Amino acid sequence: MRCPFCGFEETQVKDSRPSEDNSAIRRRRFCPACGSRFTTFERVQLRELTVIKKDKSKTPFDRDKLQRSITIAVRKRPISSEQVELIVNSIQRQLEVSGENEIPSGQIGEMVMEALSGLDPVAYVRFASVYRDFREAKDFKAFISSLEAVAEAGPLEGKENVKNEN
Ligand SMILES: [Zn+2]
Repeated sequence: MRCPFCGFEETQVKDSRPSEDNSAIRRRRFCPACGSRFTTFERVQLRELTVIKKDKSKTPFDRDKLQRSITIAVRKRPISSEQVELIVNSIQRQLEVSGENEIPSGQIGEMVMEALSGLDPVAYVRFASVYRDFREAKDFKAFISSLEAVAEAGPLEGKENVKNEN
């Protein structure tokens, strides 16, 4: 595995253990050239998934991209990278077992919003505002007032959303 910092090819594995939910092997690596440490994950890929974007173009499902988009939404919120990892794992698994090879990007967005709605309202609103692409302030206001209606009706669900479905 090449060092992502300096490009050195011969990085060393320092430690290898299952991830928290046992769906991956986490390897801690060390680069002897620049001294950087980084982590890689080895996981099962059951099927090749294709995402159909809003403009109908197709792109391979990119787990890292999904993880990045959620990470941006939860920035400075009390949500750990492990929790983000669990959301991504859960979504990927649900998609893999869904039987569909081609998945509309909107479906993935809805799954992320569902998971975030149970975790953190701020992260949820951030993700939704990017994903739903609010063009006008009134769109955002309408969305916020729908959230307030939900909040008045009772607390958002607990953390069940990120638990493994299988
Ligand atoms: Zn390096």
